[in-house]
Amino acid sequence: MPAYVTLNPTTGRTEQEFAGLDDSAVPEVLRRSDDAFADWRATPAAERAQLLIRIADAYGRREQELAELITTEMGKPRNEAVGEVRLAAAIYRWYGEHGPDLLEREVLDPQGSDESVVQTEPVGPLIGVMPWNYPYYQVARFVAPNLMAGNTIILKHAHLCAASSELMAEIVHTAGVPADAYLNVFASNEQIADMIADPRVRGVSLTGSERAGASVAETAGRNLKKAVLELGGSDAFIVLDDGDLERTAEVGARARLSNTGQACNSPKRMIVGNDRLDEFTAIVTEAFESAQVGDPANPSTQVGPLSSTGARDAVVDQVRRAVEQGATLHTGGDALDGDGAFMRPAVLTGVTPDMDAYSEEIFGPVAVIHGVESDDEAVALANDVGFGLSGSVWGADIERAQRIADRLEVGMAYVNEHGTTLPGLPFGGVKRSGFGRELGRWGMGEFVNTRLRRTS
Ligand code: NAP
Repeated sequence: MPAYVTLNPTTGRTEQEFAGLDDSAVPEVLRRSDDAFADWRATPAAERAQLLIRIADAYGRREQELAELITTEMGKPRNEAVGEVRLAAAIYRWYGEHGPDLLEREVLDPQGSDESVVQTEPVGPLIGVMPWNYPYYQVARFVAPNLMAGNTIILKHAHLCAASSELMAEIVHTAGVPADAYLNVFASNEQIADMIADPRVRGVSLTGSERAGASVAETAGRNLKKAVLELGGSDAFIVLDDGDLERTAEVGARARLSNTGQACNSPKRMIVGNDRLDEFTAIVTEAFESAQVGDPANPSTQVGPLSSTGARDAVVDQVRRAVEQGATLHTGGDALDGDGAFMRPAVLTGVTPDMDAYSEEIFGPVAVIHGVESDDEAVALANDVGFGLSGSVWGADIERAQRIADRLEVGMAYVNEHGTTLPGLPFGGVKRSGFGRELGRWGMGEFVNTRLRRTS
């Protein structure tokens, strides 16, 4: 029975230990979630919506406490932690405000005396497997639409954020959601596989790595269960020749350092014309060197520790390998001394298709900058990776930028912005970035029965 242990990545100290779920408790978890489903689905949609609004209100009231906890648990710089709490609250509120309308039954074009009615119904207990990088936001993306739809939730969060997962469960229950409609479990991967296989569980949503996604999707597929996967990314950030180079480079650098580079949709690959490559690289390098790395609880810190020393060492190793394979390192890439999981942000150029850094996801503060000769080459390079989460195009001629954005093999293409996330817009990717969508009406369409009743 492995314990969930939270370690403070700023200090390297153990914060808290949590007993893992005992194997003997797994049947009980399944029974409770299934039993709760009958009542929860019968609760009027307007009532469920009110509870979501209450959850959103609680996130607002407890903003500082919530933010402080993830700063301790996974090292998120304080201002960004507050931003994440607000985004999670906005998602609960959005589904609380729009959910009942999205569940309204629809009467389709009557023909003669025929009647076709489409009703959106919940399917039952769902499992959510969530990552540590946005502990509240990722959970809200899965939980808000599904509680709204009338499904019950079994939530397995990452080992690293056991304390924040407990706090989220407390908020949901205090708002009035029945205890068994949302169960937070400190389960092992094997226990999750057993639960997915159980006939009472109707689907699983995982946000995380390709490795975890493949494993969960394999179990789901074998048991004919629906899965939604939100996996990695290596987003392109394409800078066209008519844009404001300095501003774009600064915005790109800031975006790449956000969450200490640990975001699925971070602009990991910047693509710029060869004639402006040196200038662009110099600006990003200067921005990376002047970014304040340090204690994430300090409001002026821009770059915190990575989530663990193991995660930091893996990124440092990716940079080292890139250099060994022939890339040019302009700054950083080394671990900082001490017990914390800190590294200096790195900038790489000269990364070619034969190098690992060309195609791997680098989950830390590292910008890979490519030079290209044409828009066509930029698009080909952007699409030349296994991932397809999002990408952005930057330029003054909006129509040209939009035409290029439309050629990106991604789930989310942006023009003159990168990675904007709003509760009402779809979020998700193609290729190895996963399948299915979260947020907006699309997020509520994944785990429901779109049920037809025809009468003639
Ligand atoms: P991870 O190691 O895959 O962990 C994610 C979750 O999956 C954790 O709860 C983890 O549990 C669990 N897990 C791992 N292996 C599993 C298995 N075999 N069966 C069941 N559960 C399993 O990913 P991470 O390192 O935390 O997150 C980083 C990755 O997530 C990056 O690739 C990033 O791009 C991606 N991501 C994608 C999105 C998106 O929306 N597309 C958003 C954020 C992050 P333990 O912690 O207990 O191991």
